[in-house]
Amino acid sequence: MLCLEKDRLLDACVTATDRQAEAVQALSAIAAKDNRAAFRQARAHAQQARQDAAEATLALRLHSKTHGC
Ligand SMILES: [Zn+2]
Repeated sequence: MLCLEKDRLLDACVTATDRQAEAVQALSAIAAKDNRAAFRQARAHAQQARQDAAEATLALRLHSKTHGC
């Protein structure tokens, strides 16, 4: 049976993971330049994106565990 909440959480995971990949790619591109302020900003963004992806994954796992789906 399809669980709408699991489907929603899965979509959130995919979106967060895509954003994390984009942030890491941007960080990598900026690291090649000599711009410390831009690098710090991109690094903070990448760290936040990683945190968001981890939280989305955790929410999905917790839901599946408690809902049995
Ligand atoms: Zn569920």
